Amino acid sequence: MYPHLPRSAHFTAEHEAFRATVKRFVDKELLPHVDAWDEAESFPRALYGRAAELGLLGLGFPEEFGGTTGDLFHEIAMIEELSRTGCGGLMASLFSHTIGAPPILAGGSAELKARVLPEILSGRKISALAVTEPSGGSDVANLKTRAERDGDFYIVNGSKTFITSGMRADYITLAVRTGGAGAGGVSALLMPADTPGLNRTPLKKMGWWCSDTAQIHFDNCRVPVANLLGKENRGFDIFMRNFNHERLALALQAYGFACVCLDEASDWARERITFGKHLVEHQVVRHKLVAMATQIEATRALLEDLAARLQQGQQPVAQICMLKNFATQTMQFCADSAVQILGGMGFMRGTKSERIYREVKVYMIGGGAEEVLNDLAARQLGWV
Ligand SMILES: Cc1cc2nc3c(=O)[nH]c(=O)nc-3n(C[C@H](O)[C@H](O)[C@H](O)COP(=O)(O)OP(=O)(O)OC[C@H]3O[C@@H](n4cnc5c(N)ncnc54)[C@H](O)[C@@H]3O)c2cc1C
Repeated sequence: MYPHLPRSAHFTAEHEAFRATVKRFVDKELLPHVDAWDEAESFPRALYGRAAELGLLGLGFPEEFGGTTGDLFHEIAMIEELSRTGCGGLMASLFSHTIGAPPILAGGSAELKARVLPEILSGRKISALAVTEPSGGSDVANLKTRAERDGDFYIVNGSKTFITSGMRADYITLAVRTGGAGAGGVSALLMPADTPGLNRTPLKKMGWWCSDTAQIHFDNCRVPVANLLGKENRGFDIFMRNFNHERLALALQAYGFACVCLDEASDWARERITFGKHLVEHQVVRHKLVAMATQIEATRALLEDLAARLQQGQQPVAQICMLKNFATQTMQFCADSAVQILGGMGFMRGTKSERIYREVKVYMIGGGAEEVLNDLAARQLGWV
């Protein structure tokens, strides 16, 4: 798989051993099945337990809750390998706890964390994050789902939409309004999905077929006050911190999928013959491959630089926004170029480039649309 260069100095023998574990899992247990799972719009629930056994679900979470020690370079190695499936939907649902569980870790009581996190990190229970609402997802500070205090409970009313793992999730990490208008009225709540009054409807999508996506409606749902994550009306910061990691992870996947497109296109260009020579011998085609590789190299450099900065404790929020936008543009450029080089075959189901081409938009919209991230970067840089 691209890149052909030796791994950078950030990757130690330990990272490479972890990569080898993930690679075996991808080759033996995912690649033979992903196409069928995506067509079936689902994958076996048992896969959560298997990914947990290998330490994938717990990566970066504390060991006391069933987590696995690892840093951002373990995560890069893991996502590079998982991207070889070319199946964004599998990654979105299998890892929906990476957006659902961190708010529990950040703001849950000791009792809640000890009870819920081991269930999620062992793959026995599925976690989802529900922030986006039918009235809009970009303007999080303006969300409308209300939670009114009633003794030891909150009564929740409202709706969330486009929620990954929304149908299968056992726990829903929910953004609600407990106070007045704006960011200062937002709280984070953990709602068990079997709460009476919670109803969910599956949504059909352009891509990410094997990932379940749901609209969820809350009709007088009672949630114990003990399930509050962090302090009342202080949830906004928890969700914003969560977004930083989500954006980095989406950028990582976008980078991985760009590499998959380049691999598929370069293999095809060296095999396929038109006008008496291999495609790669047409200058225009090989230049296209180099343009893809150039975008990928630049994305990788930015990605590894930012990962190293985050590990040193820096919080380069503007640069994370730039990385997510740059990586998803790289994915878009590579998917478009790969489908063009594959010709009619690139339009056929079964090539990875076809699926990646269909899935690029969710990376450019989800976790913060491109325009919203550019605005956030401008604010972070002090320009507005
Ligand atoms: C497959 C899928 C899975 C998802 N999973 C989850 C999940 O698990 N949990 C969750 O909470 N959400 C999830 N989302 C929601 C996602 O995060 C939102 O779609 C995204 O934040 C954008 O919100 P919106 O769709 O309501 O678009 P809107 O907020 O209505 O914006 C529409 C468009 O307007 C433009 N726009 C918006 N604001 C501005 C601005 N200030 N300046 C310029 N242009 C602007 C952008 O182009 C944007 O795409 C998912 C979405 C999809 C498609």
